[in-house]
Formats: sequence, C-alpha cells, structure tokens
Amino acid sequence: MSEEGMRRVTAIQNGTIIDHVPAGSSLKVLGMLGLLDSRSTPISLAMNVPSKKLDRKDVMKVEDRELTQEELDRLAIIAPNASVSIIRDYRVAEKRSVVLGDELLNVARCSFSNCIMNNPREPLPHRILVHSRNPLELRCAYCGKTQSVDDIVNHLI
Ligand SMILES: [Zn+2]
Repeated sequence: MSEEGMRRVTAIQNGTIIDHVPAGSSLKVLGMLGLLDSRSTPISLAMNVPSKKLDRKDVMKVEDRELTQEELDRLAIIAPNASVSIIRDYRVAEKRSVVLGDELLNVARCSFSNCIMNNPREPLPHRILVHSRNPLELRCAYCGKTQSVDDIVNHLI
C-alpha cells in the first residue's frame, strides 16, 4: 500500500484495501466482486487520487472481509496492477496481487445468448479464454465470440 493511498483511506481494523485501481473503475471492480448490491459490507472509495504509478487511481477499502485470491483474480481484467493489502487489527497482515490466468472460469456467461455455454439443458463450465494480454482480448471458449470487459461485467454469474 502506497503512502498516498494510505493517507486518503482512513484506517480500518479488519478487511481488504485495494490500491492502484485505474481511475473510474471502482464500480466495475465492486461489480466483479459481487459487492455492488451489498447492503451489509461497509465499503469506502477514494476516486481520482493522484498516483505515481498510474496517472490517477482509485483506492477502495472493504471492511470486515478478506477477499480471497480467487476473488482478487477476477479483477485482473479491470485492474491488472492493483495492489491488495489484507488488514488485520489495523495492520497490513498480507500483501496480494491480482493474477490474470489463461482463462476466466465460472466468472461470466458468454455475451452471445445462443452460445452453447448458455444452454441450460447442457450445463458446461463457463470458460472465457484470455486470447491476448496486451491488448487484452477475451474470447468465449465455445463459440469464440470476443468479449469486452463490459460484456464480462454485464454477464457476471
Ligand atoms: Zn460463447
């Protein structure tokens, strides 16, 4: 956790701080984590914070919840450079980073509604392949349709 990030976000006793999120992406990040509709998890956001690493960044803290590596890896398509601190008793207990694997497994449905992945009679794992990383290109493992980051966010399981 960088100092400027720490200053902007008040201390939390327990939870997760996600730093170096590209400015303006925090709502997508919360969507990916299934926290957008959460009415029980206290979440604080600092948006458009000046950053050395990114021009501007968002910082968020999620109280009383330690995000798992699997949850964090879902963020890789939105915030590949995010740095994550797990806080216990006001201290950084663990540092984690997000990892973009070769596929997103059971994260989102294919955006093509006629895709076999979306056929309820034929349950298949929801596989979106990372076809290229830079630039990021995601494709359905079954029909090959390109999926934008917004497609993923809009078709989360
Ligand atoms: Zn598909």
